[in-house]
Parts: sequence; C-alpha cells; structure tokens
Amino acid sequence: MSRELIDLAIERLREDFPNKSKSWVRRALIRFMKNTVKEYGEGVWVVKGLPELGDRYPTYVVRLRDGRYYCSCFESSWGLRRRSEICTHIAAVILYRNYRKLDSDVYASVINIECVDYYLEIPSEFRGKVKVVKSVKVIDATDKLNPRHRVTYVIYASEPIEVRARLICDGEVRELSLKLSKTRRYMIELLTHQPFQPSSTHFL
Ligand SMILES: [Zn+2]
Repeated sequence: MSRELIDLAIERLREDFPNKSKSWVRRALIRFMKNTVKEYGEGVWVVKGLPELGDRYPTYVVRLRDGRYYCSCFESSWGLRRRSEICTHIAAVILYRNYRKLDSDVYASVINIECVDYYLEIPSEFRGKVKVVKSVKVIDATDKLNPRHRVTYVIYASEPIEVRARLICDGEVRELSLKLSKTRRYMIELLTHQPFQPSSTHFL
C-alpha cells in the first residue's frame, strides 16, 4: 500500500465526516491497515473483527443500500446505541473504497500555459465523458488589473479517448487534439487538491 494514497484516502474520509473524532479515524485506519476489509459482492463487505478494538464477533457485514451504510454490529447488544452512528467497521469500508478508487486507472492529459486571459473550450460531445480541473497561480502581478497566471488544466476520462479542445491564451487560439493517456487516479487528486479549483471549462 502506498503512504501517499493512504493519506489521501484518510483526507477524503475526514472531509466526509468532519465531526468524527481522531480516535474514530484512527480505529478505521487500524482496521484498514490490518487488511480486515474484504469485498464480498456489489455493496457488501466483510470486516474481520479486532478484539483489541472491542469487537465481540469474528466478522461484521457492512452493506450499502440506497446510499446508506449498514453494519451487522447494529444488531448486536450495543445496536441501539450504535445505530445512529457510523461505526468504524463502516469507516474502514469507506477508507478501503476511497483507497481502491484512488488506486484505479484514469486517462488524462495535462496542459500548462502562462497567460493573462485564458479559456478552454471542449465540444459538447464530450460532456459527461470528460472532466476538467485546473490550477491557477499568479506569477506576475506587476499589472495589478491584468496579472499573469500559470494555469494547469487536467483533462481526464475513464477511457483512452482523444479529446478535441480549443485553448485561448491572450487572444491566441489553439486547436488541440489531446490523447488521454493512462495514469492513476490519485495523480489527479494530488494535482487537483490544494490550489486546484473546479474548472470553468465551457462545453460548446
Ligand atoms: Zn459496525
């Protein structure tokens, strides 16, 4: 397992459950790192119990139904108290799924430009298939009203398609043909986190 991916997977878990305690996250992480989560089928996971975390059963079953997670520990003697909460068996499953997603393949192309005004247009036939994120950094603010930016666009999809795009940089129009090549999902997450923002790409 990669440390970088684990960190990102934990970050996602924290973002999804900002009110959960550090110890909740830690217990989920222990379960995940001890490899206790196994996928059993569509929306079903089996989590091995860990006595050191207070588990009384050798296994727990976590199910995802209609966007909600259910754990078999809800049915135990502690069930009433636990039902309203998200137990760490579920948290471990979420961590496992986050990790698997980050570890999966996507197809991407990266564009780097430096301009004052910039714009990326992608034909509407790619709508729903292609996603775009961008990172913008001001590199020269001598002219306060027209600062110069370094812009990185990441264009990605689940298939190795070729995407036509039009890039406008300070009035100069470039027609691009982008061959999306295989990369891992977490590379995009690394690029798209911190200074990145959802792109205002326009589909024509
Ligand atoms: Zn549980």
